[in-house]
Amino acid sequence: MADRAPRVLVSACLLGARCRYDGAHRHYPGIEAALTGCEAVPVCPERAGGLPTPRIPCELRGGDGAAVWEGRATVVDRQGTDRSDAFREGARTCSQQAPAAAWALLKSGSPSCGVHSTWIDGAKVPGPGVFAALLAERGVPCRSEEEL
Ligand code: SF4
Repeated sequence: MADRAPRVLVSACLLGARCRYDGAHRHYPGIEAALTGCEAVPVCPERAGGLPTPRIPCELRGGDGAAVWEGRATVVDRQGTDRSDAFREGARTCSQQAPAAAWALLKSGSPSCGVHSTWIDGAKVPGPGVFAALLAERGVPCRSEEEL
């Protein structure tokens, strides 16, 4: 029996899904080649958390995605509405795929999917987004498209 292709969780916007806050995608040239031989599983934690597209963009306040899970930071949209629950719910839903995932390929800079940096208190700074932090805590290796 042939070995099963490794499963990779992928930010859906990198694969061309128009799920970003502004209704656009961020298809990454060459992503299909980079995922050759893998089973790509598209996920969008913000949509999975019930947020619409388009939606008001969000940023983290007070800390990174790990701090959100620890209750030391929040996610708010530009109108000041707390979206932390939706971000956590969407991350949990998408992470249900995580036990079978070999790794994850996530959109850089996103308050959900950012691996190495995200927007906190008005600046792009080091630290994971809410979804990336949950995957890291569960032992799923995460890379951003910038590392391809
Ligand atoms: S939550 Fe992730 S997958 Fe969804 S639009 Fe934002 S960066 Fe892309």
